[in-house]
Amino acid sequence: MPSIINILKKEIIIYCPLCNGSYSPRDIATIEQTGNVALIHSKCPKCAGSVLSLLYKDLLGITLLGMATDMDFNDALRLKDADYINEDDVLEIYQMLNPVDLNNRAESIKPIGQSWNL
Ligand SMILES: [Zn+2]
Repeated sequence: MPSIINILKKEIIIYCPLCNGSYSPRDIATIEQTGNVALIHSKCPKCAGSVLSLLYKDLLGITLLGMATDMDFNDALRLKDADYINEDDVLEIYQMLNPVDLNNRAESIKPIGQSWNL
């Protein structure tokens, strides 16, 4: 069975969602394919915008869901199996960028209800 990306390259003209420029086959690369589902990266030769697309092939045809990204192909390949970012990761980065002694700030935090005393 031909891969989804080969069908796409041969039978469909794909347009850049950012500028409507058309892709050539060399602008499209497969990151991963499993069965009838493929993750592809495309880079527009006109505007240099990149799109990550999830392709799914069934009896009705090929469904394509795309998302604009600033990742190049190698970034997408490197990050496709990376761990998810959770709330603790975000807080850790925030605290690294904004070092504050939270123990000294505790006395300046007041309950919200105090500002509504009439
Ligand atoms: Zn474009």
